[in-house]
Amino acid sequence: MFIVSIDEDQCSGCNSCTEGCPAHLLGFNDDKAQVVGDESECMGCESCISVCPTGAITITEM
Ligand code: SF4
Ligand code: SF4
Repeated sequence: MFIVSIDEDQCSGCNSCTEGCPAHLLGFNDDKAQVVGDESECMGCESCISVCPTGAITITEM
């Protein structure tokens, strides 16, 4: 399984990552991206990382 971490301080609020997640795990709250879905459904595809301009997202395989 994968752990999805979003560093709020690094997130610029561009909203690019939320639309691209095939598992719909990422949402938006207070102008910051957040994990809103069931993290256990993360496929580790790293789409979110590839579109994030600030490097705010980290995916760790457990
Ligand atoms: S790695 Fe893929 S499935 Fe996991 S949160 Fe990012 S976009 Fe979604
Ligand atoms: S792509 Fe990166 S900077 Fe943009 S909302 Fe997502 S985490 Fe924040």
